[in-house]
Amino acid sequence: MRPAAPLRLLLSSLCLALCCPGGARGSRGSDNHEWKKLIMVHHWPVTVCKEVENDCRDPPDYWTIHGLWPDKAEECNGSWHFHLEEIKDLMPEMKMYWPDVIHPLNHSHFWKHEWEKHGTCAAQLDALNSQKKYFGGSLDLYRDLDLNSMLQKLGIKPSINYYQVSDIKDALAGIYGVIPKIQCLPPQQGEEVQTIGQIELCFTKELRLRNCTEPGEPGGPGGPAPRRPRAGVSGGTGLEVCEDGPAFYPPPPGAVP
Ligand code: 5GP
Repeated sequence: MRPAAPLRLLLSSLCLALCCPGGARGSRGSDNHEWKKLIMVHHWPVTVCKEVENDCRDPPDYWTIHGLWPDKAEECNGSWHFHLEEIKDLMPEMKMYWPDVIHPLNHSHFWKHEWEKHGTCAAQLDALNSQKKYFGGSLDLYRDLDLNSMLQKLGIKPSINYYQVSDIKDALAGIYGVIPKIQCLPPQQGEEVQTIGQIELCFTKELRLRNCTEPGEPGGPGGPAPRRPRAGVSGGTGLEVCEDGPAFYPPPPGAVP
């Protein structure tokens, strides 16, 4: 199944807005900050909480936005500071779909971090060249991708039973027509399997969906297996490309799986 018509509509209208991809207001020399793809990073709040081992209470029970990241550029303009007022119209949606899962009482540090690290580079594109456009455009992509509904439709729900990573990847590839990247927390001490943490879908600079991994890349079709610390050893913190094999998609605390 292809993505719903609204996604295609949004992508084509954003493409029209791209009249000068290199004409970056605020980018600091494209030589140092050249990038090729934009990654819409969704994260699973239950896993985010597990990763940081804090006591975040009641994480959202839906995939939220971690960020919209150019693949090979960070912190492209240190003088382009974050101003919360510029996105005040987006506030209700930002809180709902792009919350700071770790510090739910103060989201703006997280948004500032995402803007300064990733947004200032994404702003190379005319379609994303202001804070309002970057955060608003990210929300539009998130809404149109509609990952939560797609997973539901595919019957992929948090569960105490494990999933095969390749099943999830193939199912999403079937929906979106491109290869996603799925990231996991490696098994911690006493755990049998990795835990699903992030799902990434990638876009060209024209904001068209494209593969996140290409054949031959780690985690891509026919590529080498992703690097992995020894299973079962503690200290394997941080997300990595999921290994092929079983993975845990953890239900929110207190949810009946
Ligand atoms: P990046 O710095 O590239 O945007 O993302 C990686 C970092 O984001 C990691 O240090 C991770 O712990 C952090 N992170 C992931 N999710 C959240 C969140 O919801 N809130 C905050 N404050 N940090 C997050």
